[in-house]
Amino acid sequence: MHVRPNPLAALASLFYPALCVACSKPVNRSEYLCDTCQSQAPRILPPFCAKCSEPFSGAITDEFRCANCEDRVLHFDAAVAAYRSRGLVRNLIHEFKYQRQHYLRHPLTGWLHESMNDPRLVGRRFDVIASVPLHPARERERGFNQATLLAELLSKNIAVPFRAILERTRYTTTQTAHDRAERMENLRDAFRLRKKANVRQLRVLLIDDVLTTGSTLSECARILKRAGAISVHAATAARA
Ligand SMILES: [Zn+2]
Ligand SMILES: [Zn+2]
Repeated sequence: MHVRPNPLAALASLFYPALCVACSKPVNRSEYLCDTCQSQAPRILPPFCAKCSEPFSGAITDEFRCANCEDRVLHFDAAVAAYRSRGLVRNLIHEFKYQRQHYLRHPLTGWLHESMNDPRLVGRRFDVIASVPLHPARERERGFNQATLLAELLSKNIAVPFRAILERTRYTTTQTAHDRAERMENLRDAFRLRKKANVRQLRVLLIDDVLTTGSTLSECARILKRAGAISVHAATAARA
């Protein structure tokens, strides 16, 4: 998690103190956020939906139904995030994604890694890590796939191989502007398995930067399961 692979950056770090990525206060070399900033990252705490991690107030009763999951099928076994995409978390994700601040993959993968301690994931064996793909035109435009950067770094940290399994075949308009039903329609046939990719009998950990409604992760999980994956668990750096 704390590897700084750029040799120039590594050299520079011998002479300059490591700084908090959010407030520029000096931090230990092994850290990316100072304690104050990290404490401002909004955690997802119980109670929340066991399927999609939507937090809610009050105690869970037997009749509890999650407003986000209600009336639809989500194809992943569970989608887990340790943080909400608010405040500092949301800001860092935006800088990472839209301002090409690639070094922010480190604190973001740290948050992603924390989700692996969730009871739904802890101790679970995964055969492969996959990421939600971007359409090639979108990836060219952005210069990178943010989900893949996080997935590759997590792969090193938890020693589960990363594979580019899925591809996006439709250039969908941005999901943010759509409501839930429109999102699902928008995603129809947007993904497929890459040529020669094989997930038969595999337990897949699927990575994205943020879960909003879960439609994208669900559609990817549906393709993976249709191709023979035993299970698909999703983890994201944060959740809306
Ligand atoms: Zn700070
Ligand atoms: Zn739910």
